[in-house]
Amino acid sequence: MSLPAPIESRLLAMLHARTDTLEAGDPIPEPLVLSSAFALPSNPDARRTYARYTNPTIEATEARLAALEDAPCLLFPSGMGAYSAAFMALLKGGDRVLMLSDGYYAARNLVSDIMAPFGVVLETCPAANILTADLAGYAAVVVETPSNPGLDVIDLRALAERCRTAGAKLVVDNTVLTPLLQQPLDLGADIVIVSDTKAMAGHTDVLMGHVASRDAAYMERLLSVRNLTGNIPAPYEAWLLLRGLETVELRLERMCANARAALPLLQASEAVSEVIYPDPSPQALDQGFLIGATFASAAAADRFLERAGFAKMTSFGGLHSSGDRRARWGDTVPEGFLRLSFGVEPTAALIDAVQAALADG
Ligand SMILES: *Cc1c(COP(=O)(O)O)cnc(C)c1O
Repeated sequence: MSLPAPIESRLLAMLHARTDTLEAGDPIPEPLVLSSAFALPSNPDARRTYARYTNPTIEATEARLAALEDAPCLLFPSGMGAYSAAFMALLKGGDRVLMLSDGYYAARNLVSDIMAPFGVVLETCPAANILTADLAGYAAVVVETPSNPGLDVIDLRALAERCRTAGAKLVVDNTVLTPLLQQPLDLGADIVIVSDTKAMAGHTDVLMGHVASRDAAYMERLLSVRNLTGNIPAPYEAWLLLRGLETVELRLERMCANARAALPLLQASEAVSEVIYPDPSPQALDQGFLIGATFASAAAADRFLERAGFAKMTSFGGLHSSGDRRARWGDTVPEGFLRLSFGVEPTAALIDAVQAALADG
């Protein structure tokens, strides 16, 4: 994967965050520290006091993420844990928030079901119309690009400019492309939320999320929200994310290459009526590892997944190629629409399997 020099140096800083500081006899990988309390002989002004505030493994994982984001980061036990803290720190009663009608459903439901009784007002708009929407009067605009599952691309620099003019904070969910492939803060976003459950951790074995922002006052408030709500991950889970981060670039490189290799087969197949592979350039460094493909029916879509050896599951960004038929979740997509997530399998073998599955269709 050819990364521009500034992003490559962030990646290198992330990878070398520990090895650059080692002294003789130190373990090479990050140790997992399980402790709920820390030695506190004098007044409670030590940085580490009690593990609801922080823990060495949480700090180390946050340092890795901060290197990648080039911004302060706080870790949460899931992407939705990150969303809930980010919103609590940002919004108050009477605020109006604009979200994508075709974005991640749980983020919308968090506002409509949980925050609405506290006076936060949710309004929605499709990703395709967000750049022309009237943003006046919103406290925050919350988007993801490419959107999920429709994979619409939003010009973040243009949206950030419009948000600034309207006085709204721009919050970007960067789960789909990750901070390695797209840098919303550099494009003018105020706050970034990532579900690290997906490609960042990458092994389908842990839930995790983070929030990044270069607004120091906001990050201080976010930390206060985390401290008081106890919305902090367990060290072992954070350590699993840290371990996954060490290979994130390698995994993404193969995942994106596999998606690129499968694309022409899906496009040429009579079994597939529509293929969506968003092109978020120039704001992103790759088109990513997700492809939307519409088969004739739910049964045809399921048959493809079985024959191609793709895991039938929700979620995405893991080592194993997988597919999710989004209509079963109530997304407004055709019954045969699959969101395909390409994994790290050897490209030639994966392509053979996809070709055979499409020929059988
Ligand atoms: C999965 C996902 C989330 C929620 O993350 P969890 O880790 O499942 O809580 C948020 N946004 C997007 C785009 C996601 O795909």
